[in-house]
Amino acid sequence: MRVPKRHPRYKSLRTREILSEMMERGIVARTGLIAHGRGEAFDYFLGERTPPEASLAASVAAFKLANARSPVISVNGNVAALAGKEIIKLSREIPAKLEVNLFHRSEGRIDLVVDFMESLGARGVLGRSARRRIPGLEQPRGRCSEGIYGADVVLVPLEDGDRAQALKAFGKLVIAIDLNPMSRTALVADVTIVDELTRSIPMLERHVRGAKAEPARYAKLVKGFDNHQNLLAVRDRMARRLMEESR
Ligand code: ATP
Ligand code: MG
Repeated sequence: MRVPKRHPRYKSLRTREILSEMMERGIVARTGLIAHGRGEAFDYFLGERTPPEASLAASVAAFKLANARSPVISVNGNVAALAGKEIIKLSREIPAKLEVNLFHRSEGRIDLVVDFMESLGARGVLGRSARRRIPGLEQPRGRCSEGIYGADVVLVPLEDGDRAQALKAFGKLVIAIDLNPMSRTALVADVTIVDELTRSIPMLERHVRGAKAEPARYAKLVKGFDNHQNLLAVRDRMARRLMEESR
């Protein structure tokens, strides 16, 4: 199917096309399509725009990533399919390791996603051999590689709530990107960027550059940041939009 460029929902339809093709290639899990649908619904409430609360959370996240000892970006099928190239750029800017970590883990799909990231130019992607375990999660969901195991700061774009919670309990500083401000992932993370993945990754990269150039300004934002308050502010924004007269 070809989506006409002038269609008012062009970007959304195009994204669905990509995800469905990526599912056929085995990179995206079938349930990844459902997760995407839930995200889209929340994006409607944002008016498909980055809210100021997400920019603030991204500034804080950028400072944490830029100053981490061993930062890691966790990559799953949806993330690779929708923002693979942008994630690689971000990982170079920080710099951070990339680790493929799948909710629906199978060795075959791990290889496919690692190969796909490498085909986009990524080097040294972790995840193929997952000899480590995140405490508190049963197999195979608890498996991970050295990257996540040894990290101090983990960026989890689109992560399951249980896993986010286990990472936090394991002592990691967890940064989530999640359109649902009420998901367990959003609630349990230290910093939650409530925004659409493909909009938020380039924004995060800009802020990483900013945090390196102006550390004092960013440190001040970190000091004043309250994730819980910030999440309430996004929910308020969504609720207000829901009550607006339609335009
Ligand atoms: P939780 O497990 O945290 O309680 P959940 O069950 O809603 O929440 P999952 O199904 O585990 O979450 O993961 C999907 C999450 O990813 C959803 O919360 C959805 O809002 C979010 N999501 C999906 N696609 C995107 C996207 N492109 N950008 C940002 N967030 C997205
Ligand atoms: Mg879930």
